[in-house]
Amino acid sequence: MAVDLLAFPFIGGRPVLNFLGTLGKRTTEPLERLRTPEDLTRWSEKAGLAGQGVISAGPADLEAARALREALYGLTMSALGRASAEPGDVEIVNYWAAQPTPVPGVAIRSGVLHREDPAPTASAVLAAVARDGIDLLTGPDVESIRECEDATCTLLFLDTSRGHRRRWCSMNICGARAKMRTLRASN
Ligand SMILES: [Zn+2]
Repeated sequence: MAVDLLAFPFIGGRPVLNFLGTLGKRTTEPLERLRTPEDLTRWSEKAGLAGQGVISAGPADLEAARALREALYGLTMSALGRASAEPGDVEIVNYWAAQPTPVPGVAIRSGVLHREDPAPTASAVLAAVARDGIDLLTGPDVESIRECEDATCTLLFLDTSRGHRRRWCSMNICGARAKMRTLRASN
């Protein structure tokens, strides 16, 4: 089965966890999926965070996105008890959480009311991700964050399965690999 390693994983169950997944295989061969500003534009659309429009991310947005991602990852690791929280990470997350997100307005044209939505921006997308991160990491759902059991995968997801028994990011990828290994070992 061919797997497009650069495809964005949307298995996290939360925008922030999906965003963290744009860097894969963190502990072995880091796989950067946000390689160009266009990747950030594409991710934002697929994540449904660009509203009705399309953001046009630039090189500075890409750099900011990666920095925010790693700050959120650091705080997630601290929430999971695996590292201590870095003040620098807190600062970055708070900075982005405070950025404005688009608010709709109303206009009258020829006596008729029209809704007007401002063009979405990369900064608003990062604000939405940062706010989701704060919400997740300080709320009850933090208890349900799991890391895929595949030793090299490092993807995080929210385990909302009954009995909290989800082990893999995806049954088709890491789950299937584990099954193959078990089969081989028993032969
Ligand atoms: Zn996995």
